[in-house]
Amino acid sequence: MLPTIRSRAAWQISKRIQTASRRSYAFSANDQQEINDPTPQKDVPNVSKTNELPTEAVHTSTSLQEKTEDAEHRRVTQAPNRAVAWSRSQNPRAKAMSGPRFEQTIMEAQPAPQAAITLIHQQPVRWTHERMVACDGGGGPLGHPRIFINVDKPQICMCTYCGLPFANEHHRAHLESLHTTPYPLEPQGKAAEVPESQRITDEALGQR
Ligand SMILES: [Zn+2]
Repeated sequence: MLPTIRSRAAWQISKRIQTASRRSYAFSANDQQEINDPTPQKDVPNVSKTNELPTEAVHTSTSLQEKTEDAEHRRVTQAPNRAVAWSRSQNPRAKAMSGPRFEQTIMEAQPAPQAAITLIHQQPVRWTHERMVACDGGGGPLGHPRIFINVDKPQICMCTYCGLPFANEHHRAHLESLHTTPYPLEPQGKAAEVPESQRITDEALGQR
């Protein structure tokens, strides 16, 4: 019995020493890093001064410019129509658009400032009497490979390529009874909506 207790005590002591040494090592490492940093990082704004210079925008006639402080404040928003990132694997704009590669970060001057994920959810549901619809996203080079979407289920069935929503007329009453739907059930008159003339048609590749 005695040797067992003794060896156990020895093991406990050695473990305590190990932990203590590890602790002191970690402490001294952190400590040294702070003391020996010859060039401490300055707290500078991430946005370049180029935002203060007026620049032309494609879709507006007025020139764009913003103060560095304002730009730094706006940099954390993802898009004009979206405050936060939409995927856990997505690098937030504040992190992604940093460093010397990114000059002139005024949101309105970007080629596609609006977040598509928000725009697609403004598209009203395309109602159909068919059990299946086809979506090619608009056809031609603007579209995507044509896929067929089954709308049998009492839910909004969206295109897995472009996100356009489709639903069967049979389920209209059920869908209208829901408190919230991911897409508006009727046109809301928003600018992002695809015009009525381009909606589901009978022609080949004409559904969008
Ligand atoms: Zn589509």
